[in-house]
Amino acid sequence: MSAESKNKKPFVYLVGAGPGRADLITVRGANAIAAADCIIADKLANPALLKFARPDAEIVPVPKRIGPGSFTQDAVNRILLEKAAPGRIVVRLKGGDPCIFGRAGEELAVLKEHGIEFEIVPGITAAVAAGAYAGIILTDRDYASQIAFITGHEAEEKEQSAINWKALADFAGTLVFYMGMSNLAEIADRLIQNGLTPDTPAAVIQSATFPGQRIAMAPLSDIDNRCKAEKIGPPAIVVIGRAADADNALNWFMRKPLFGKTILVTRDVPGNAAFAAKIIRRGGSPVEFATIKIRPLTDSAEFIKTLAQFSKYHWIIFTSVNGVTTFFDALYALGKDARAFASAKVAAIGSRTAAHLADFGIKADFVPTVFTGRQLAAQLIARENLQDKRILLLRSRLASSDLPDVLREAAAEVADVPIYTADPANADPAPLFEQITTGRINWLTFASPSSARIFFEQISPETVNASKALVASVGPVTTDCLEGLGVRVDLTAAEHTIDGLLDAIEGAC
Ligand code: SAH
Repeated sequence: MSAESKNKKPFVYLVGAGPGRADLITVRGANAIAAADCIIADKLANPALLKFARPDAEIVPVPKRIGPGSFTQDAVNRILLEKAAPGRIVVRLKGGDPCIFGRAGEELAVLKEHGIEFEIVPGITAAVAAGAYAGIILTDRDYASQIAFITGHEAEEKEQSAINWKALADFAGTLVFYMGMSNLAEIADRLIQNGLTPDTPAAVIQSATFPGQRIAMAPLSDIDNRCKAEKIGPPAIVVIGRAADADNALNWFMRKPLFGKTILVTRDVPGNAAFAAKIIRRGGSPVEFATIKIRPLTDSAEFIKTLAQFSKYHWIIFTSVNGVTTFFDALYALGKDARAFASAKVAAIGSRTAAHLADFGIKADFVPTVFTGRQLAAQLIARENLQDKRILLLRSRLASSDLPDVLREAAAEVADVPIYTADPANADPAPLFEQITTGRINWLTFASPSSARIFFEQISPETVNASKALVASVGPVTTDCLEGLGVRVDLTAAEHTIDGLLDAIEGAC
């Protein structure tokens, strides 16, 4: 503990993690996790949320089931007191909203009793998330101007039940049951016995907001059978009332093209983040694993000399977004700008690279129709005579020799100047190994040979080949590399970009 924090009091954030999907936590919740020395996390809270945590934060998982014979609430309270030492920030992370069936009362009472300061950060509760992610409108002025959140746990405790079943049966609105799956038949019976019509619509949403979200819809009298037949179980939300008779066309989430697919991305950290955002937009669930770290080589004597003679080149060729970024960072650092290109023509290997050049004010003079080095060279040669033309390649040190080889065959004078390289990122492969071997990942994607090589130094080709996961590659160069490593490649994108890769996966789903 630092000297500064010694005198400080502990502080506890009771944070609602939201229903599951990691980016459905609030900004305040994520900030609290980022500030925490210790995170006491419910199983119901998505472990992916820990990506917001500091690397040195202590993580204390507590089981989801709290009750007699398992983990007791007392045990959680004890952990809370033990971890909330002076000067420490503790996050108590709970699924959904902490104050909706979250036993917040007990934990807050303990904090109050010990004079520990706290803040409650609300979360999106499961009922609200399940409605949104199933296209079920929980209140609608035409059919439901009220809504009730009910625990389904008490249905069996007939004697002490605090639930007024008659009032619920008469309730002219939407009934939403939490924890209702083990008593679903009982819940339906009691409502029907108390006068709710058996054909009242009911919907059960399992694992709302997760890639594995599932829905069953049936009349109330049949909903339990339907769930059993479709093997729909907890965690699930039960919606009863006209709202449950939802229009399938509003089920935007499950209708997305990559819905239900978990896709591994294996680039560097910023590349993975951009790729993951595209997967999420298409309804898939990304798993990010950084294989490489980009390291600029722009302080090399070779690069600095190249830049001094920049105006002598007829063509300057960029083969990746990373190359463009690295080059302009170095150019600007030297107090220069796009005018350095003067009369040189510029080629980009693909549409993304060209778009990134445009961000810096350079319009590519040439982009091949197929985004590989070999095609770029062949198409450039077909377009003009390159004999004795001076061509500068600004690319990764690890790039293949296809592009310079073909250009040199056409008698061009080629300077192949590495401006960055990819070092291993050394991420821990153990959690990923488990996800692959247990079949939780549907697709492994590779966007460059360097990330493929480094990935398969950490996880063996045999592990992947023996798993259910399919392998998708961005283009033929990456595919050759993968096959050379002994990996079975299931798909090579026709357009060699990240979007092209996702189009291809979508087509194969
Ligand atoms: N505090 C939580 C509820 C905890 S009680 C909240 O506000 O959401 C646990 C119950 O929440 C489960 O039995 C289930 O009914 C519901 N639940 C939690 N997450 C869910 C999810 N992703 N999909 C469906 N139901 C969920």
